[in-house]
Amino acid sequence: MVRFTVLASGSKGNSTVVSGGRTRILVDAGLSCRELFRRMRLAGEDPETLDAIIVTHEHQDHINGVSVTARKLGIPVYFTEGTHRAWMRWLSPRRQMTYAQWMEQCRQQAAARDAEAVAAAEQAETDEAESETVGADPEPETDCEAVVACEPVLDSVAAESAPAQKQDPTWLPAVEYFQAGQPFEIGDIAVSPFTIPHDAADPVGFVFRAEGVRMAFATDLGYIPPNVKAQLKGVDLLLLESNHDLEMLRDGPYPWQVKQRVLSRVGHLSNEAAADFLENGYDGQAAYVILAHLSESNNLPELARVTAERALQGRASLLANRLLLAAQSEPLASVYF
Ligand SMILES: [Zn+2]
Ligand SMILES: [Zn+2]
Repeated sequence: MVRFTVLASGSKGNSTVVSGGRTRILVDAGLSCRELFRRMRLAGEDPETLDAIIVTHEHQDHINGVSVTARKLGIPVYFTEGTHRAWMRWLSPRRQMTYAQWMEQCRQQAAARDAEAVAAAEQAETDEAESETVGADPEPETDCEAVVACEPVLDSVAAESAPAQKQDPTWLPAVEYFQAGQPFEIGDIAVSPFTIPHDAADPVGFVFRAEGVRMAFATDLGYIPPNVKAQLKGVDLLLLESNHDLEMLRDGPYPWQVKQRVLSRVGHLSNEAAADFLENGYDGQAAYVILAHLSESNNLPELARVTAERALQGRASLLANRLLLAAQSEPLASVYF
């Protein structure tokens, strides 16, 4: 059975569970682990059965709960390399140093180099036969068996006994890289990642295929370029961004620069742009169209719905389509195939 459950959608957090065959993937983890687990249970999904997390891009509303969730469950996280690097930079911000601090750091580094040189010279003199046991990298401790709650791992481990990995905020049980344009598989689910135009390091959308069902995922994109249009053909489920109403955004509370960013070619898709695609670019194949990533400040669910419905209405073949709206505050009822 194929199952698609949007746990949350919007600028305060995005996350969806895609299940097919024996595999369950969490697409983005934009809420806290605790809230993700709560919503999964609410939607009848068991968090402990998740096999992997896959990340679209490094914006906070897509990655907030990634490390805690992956650590709690002991599961791999799939990123593009660019997104992984950006995520690591976000977690390890570089601090500004005063000149005195910088000098002190240089002094310490020089002292460390000197000590190393002395040690190396001494080592060269000693008998090579003294075999140095290269300590095997210890398996990361998994305290994930009893996955119930979601307290950050560091809180639950005494600092002095915590393994080095757990003090590193970027440490994950496993990291897998993928590239846009290069399909791959996670268990029983085939994943086709594609590039989307958005102001992140290496943002992607996905088409997931499981048991012959194709589900497309396209949010956080400034517009729909031809490569994305091609990906959205022949899908059974289309999750599409319908971020803002153009007039509401123009008259809304955001500062001018933020409005420009949202409106830009690497910003977010408006109701009008989504409707234009549904009317003129979409092939009408999907049994479900889910409008997603609705802005709470610059959109109203009814506006998004009406705009999309109007766009779909002209096409008789689309009457069987179900139009759904993903919400920020609660999970959307699962869609089954
Ligand atoms: Zn987003
Ligand atoms: Zn984003």
